[in-house]
This record gives sequence, structure tokens and C-alpha cells, in this order.
Amino acid sequence: MLNMVDERKMETRNEKSITEIYTEHTKTVGQPFCENPKMQTKNVDVFYANNQAIFNVSLDIGVNEVIALIGPSGCGKSTFLRCLNRMNDTIDICKIKGELLLDGQNIYNKSQDPVLLRARVGMVFQKPNPFPKSIYDNIAYGPRIHGLTTNKAELDFIVEDSLVKAGLWDEVKDRLYEAGTGLSGGQQQRLCIARSIAVQPEVILMDEPASALDPIATAKIEQLINDLRKNFTIVIVTHSMQQAARVSQRTAYFHLGKLIEVGDTNQIFTNPQHQLTEKYITGRFG
Ligand code: ADP
Ligand code: MG
Repeated sequence: MLNMVDERKMETRNEKSITEIYTEHTKTVGQPFCENPKMQTKNVDVFYANNQAIFNVSLDIGVNEVIALIGPSGCGKSTFLRCLNRMNDTIDICKIKGELLLDGQNIYNKSQDPVLLRARVGMVFQKPNPFPKSIYDNIAYGPRIHGLTTNKAELDFIVEDSLVKAGLWDEVKDRLYEAGTGLSGGQQQRLCIARSIAVQPEVILMDEPASALDPIATAKIEQLINDLRKNFTIVIVTHSMQQAARVSQRTAYFHLGKLIEVGDTNQIFTNPQHQLTEKYITGRFG
């Protein structure tokens, strides 16, 4: 965060302060829309009781792209991410306005079952959270409750296939009936990714999925995200700009609940259009 002294220094140089630039900002710059959107948000506002956390955010998420959401802590990245599969439903004081669409259908329609939605739009959290069950049962849980299989052979296939896609099969194939919680942190996170894949989602939301992991486990997750893009659309929140640059094709920059700029990841990091994006990526605050 910029401190008072920095703000004063800038004022004496006749530069606008971060606060002034932010206050004046009304319209997302860059390319918030895309030709083949998997999901769309239109004029989304989010409130926690009387505090507004997201301001009028319109953003398309393209098919088979990895889009990174970046910005200073508290800018609303997790809040926005959670709107995309209605995880915010579980927070009583949270209210959402605007439209959120998946394949053109409003996901907040009364007829939309949030449990089915979360199978189509899966989520991976910052801290790996395997169920206190065996590795096998962690993966089999979703297919079982959604009735995706009729027999054990099919279920075995889904478990293996999900673990292969999550890059974990070779490491766990001889210990499928041991506890998921006994794996290393990085393996647990890949287990959670395998668990979300097992119900054949279309979109996977990841909230800082590698921030609790060491560099080697992080590199594996990043490689995995790259592989998964062929089959899934991925929205990843990250506080690491290097990670955003490595894994995403598009990047969206948030500041205090406003979507400031969206663009091709390369362009955002080499040639940002908005002063706030520029100040953030050059480390002037955040
Ligand atoms: P980020 O993920 O970018 O750090 P968050 O989405 O967690 O930001 O938070 C955005 C704003 O919403 C912050 O001001 C935060 O305090 C507030 N907020 C987040 N979650 C809750 C909650 N469950 N109840 C009340 N306020 C919340
Ligand atoms: Mg967050």
C-alpha cells in the first residue's frame, strides 16, 4: 500500500494520487469481452451487508482459456471468483446484482440448482482440502453423488483418468486406499484438482492454488494448468504476477472492487494501458 509520504511526494510532482485515479475510473479499459465466451458477467455488483466489494464488473471468460485475476489484497478477486459458481450463496450477508451467464444461461436463475452448477464450474482453494477419506474415495465422491457411473469398473476408470489428468496417477496408483490427507501439500492440491475434474466440469476456478506450496510443487501445478486448458476453461486468482504471466492467456486487473483493465497477458505485463495497472505491475503499490 502506498503510504502518506509517497502520496505527498507524488502530489508535489503534480502527479495524480492512486486514490484520485481510482475515483475517476469508471470504465474497464482493454478487452473485457471475447468472441467465444464460456461465461459472461454483466454489470456485477457484490455487497457484504452495506459494504460494496465489487463495482459494475463486466467480463467474458473465453472457452479453453486461462484467465488470471490479479490485484492488491482485498481488491475483490476471491469475491468475484466465488460469484462464478455461487459459492457466495453460503455467505448470508453477501448480495449479488447483475447478470452471470454460463453458456448464455443465467446461473442465478431460480431453476438453477447450485450443486449441479458447482459440478459444471468446479473450484480449487488456496489450502488443499482433501476429504478425510482414501485417495480413491476423494475422487469417487463426486461421481457417486452425481450418479455418473453405474458400476465399479466405470468408477475405477474415472478415478484413474482424473488422477492421470491431474498428473498424480504415477505417484499414488499403489496407495489408492490410503488417506488423501497423508499426501504432501503439492500432491494434496493435485488430488483436489483431480477431485474437481472427476465430475467432468467445464470451468475450473482456482483461488491462489499454489500459494501454500513450495517452488517445485508450484511448478507442477502450473504445468498442470497448462495441460488442463485443452479440456477446461480456467479462472485463476494469483497474487504472483510471474505466475499469471506463466499460466494465463488473458489477465484481468482489479483495484478496490473495480475491474480496471483486461487484456492479453503479454500486453498487460509489457504495455499496460491504465495508470493503475502500470503502477501495480511495476511494484509502486500492492
Ligand atoms: P481478495 O481476494 O482480492 O484479497 P476479497 O474478495 O477476499 O479480496 O475481499 C474483497 C473485500 O470484501 C474486502 O474488503 C473484504 O474485507 C471483503 N470481504 C470478503 N469476504 C467477506 C466476508 N465473508 N464478509 C464480509 N466481507 C468480506
Ligand atoms: Mg482472495
